[in-house]
Amino acid sequence: MTPEEILPDALLERIRARAAGYDRDNSFFDEDLRDLEDAGYLKLFVPESDGGRGLGLAEVAAVQRRLAGAAPATALGVNMHLVWTGVARVLDNLGDGSLSFVLEEAAAGELFAFAISEAGNDSMLFDSGTVAAPLQDGGYSFTGRKIFTSLSPAWTRLGTFGKDSTARDGDGELVYGFINRETPGHSTVGDWDTLGMRASQSNTTLLEGAVVPPERIFRKLPTAPNQDPLIFAIFACFETLLAAVYTGIAERAFELAVEAVKRRTSAKYGGRSFAQDPDIRWKVADAAMALDAVQAQLGGIARDVDAGTDHGNLWFAKLVGVKLRATETARAVVDTAIRVSGGASYFRGAELERLYRDVLAGIFHPSNDESAHNTVANAWLGPLER
Ligand SMILES: Cc1cc2nc3c(=O)[nH]c(=O)nc-3n(C[C@H](O)[C@H](O)[C@H](O)COP(=O)(O)OP(=O)(O)OC[C@H]3O[C@@H](n4cnc5c(N)ncnc54)[C@H](O)[C@@H]3O)c2cc1C
Repeated sequence: MTPEEILPDALLERIRARAAGYDRDNSFFDEDLRDLEDAGYLKLFVPESDGGRGLGLAEVAAVQRRLAGAAPATALGVNMHLVWTGVARVLDNLGDGSLSFVLEEAAAGELFAFAISEAGNDSMLFDSGTVAAPLQDGGYSFTGRKIFTSLSPAWTRLGTFGKDSTARDGDGELVYGFINRETPGHSTVGDWDTLGMRASQSNTTLLEGAVVPPERIFRKLPTAPNQDPLIFAIFACFETLLAAVYTGIAERAFELAVEAVKRRTSAKYGGRSFAQDPDIRWKVADAAMALDAVQAQLGGIARDVDAGTDHGNLWFAKLVGVKLRATETARAVVDTAIRVSGGASYFRGAELERLYRDVLAGIFHPSNDESAHNTVANAWLGPLER
């Protein structure tokens, strides 16, 4: 299916029309979510035999670009659900059915959020300040503070992890599970009042003894970088789909820039449009070339994940690389779009003004600049000597 078939123009324009209001009111994208659900968007990775679209990562990344161009925060929020369902799909493709229940529940209409980030935990997936306390029946209770939980008002399943410090002879292990919304022991702190991406409502989540039964504990891993397929699947889906969101923002900014340049007139050039100004032409061309590169890189990586291509120990370098390239390119393209569009884009309510704020969020998501360079340097040069 093409992105246009999944997200037809009429639906996309309805979503686009709401984005400024959600941003202004700092409100969650309830209506968008209902429309997307009706369009089968929450089942993109669900097999067709279960009523889903049965798409791969490349196709989902392409349609996420389209959605992000209309409503960046909606696309970023939905991304978290797509990441978990994508992870389940990648694992299934690797012959690992440990998350098949995620696809089954997504087919039944459940909405998955991603409660991984913690304040001060820059080890990300390889350590946790959240306590996962083992229970007698094999389940765990989770206590901790997860920051930036997108979809906070709407999720029905919360994928999270914490550390059981008593496991592995005191070395500890990281325990992954899904919390059901109706389970007690979790709450949302209404602290989401940010510069951009406001409709994602990525509030802090407090876990206060939230119990996950044994059948929903899906991984126990050591507290160190490791080659478990789950880690690969999370990196593959998270970095690629995030790159898609920011590429979509850049594509929309570029489109607005081209329109503005053709519309604005220059007294210096006798009333002709800025499209005749060589300096502006150079800037637009530069942005177009930057976009070409990132579109090709993103498409290639996503297709390689779908095809199961073996990039060996370069896989993580490639995945963090596409996220960094996409988010940095998006910032540069939005910046150029604003420069060539002139002061009109500085007014509240101008779409570029909103994209300028939204695109900044790209620098905070993992892997950030430092961590991505460290991963790539390790892949090529080996680890730092101590
Ligand atoms: C729009 C958006 C949506 C996101 N959605 C999700 C999501 O759905 N799920 C998810 O898991 N992550 C999500 N993230 C989180 C993101 O991936 C990063 O983890 C997050 O941006 C934190 O980045 P940081 O470590 O640079 O922040 P920092 O600024 O270092 O830390 C964030 C907060 O923690 C405090 N803090 C930092 N260090 C400490 C410390 N040592 N002790 C106590 N407090 C400290 C800071 O004061 C700050 O309030 C999202 C991020 C953004 C921008």
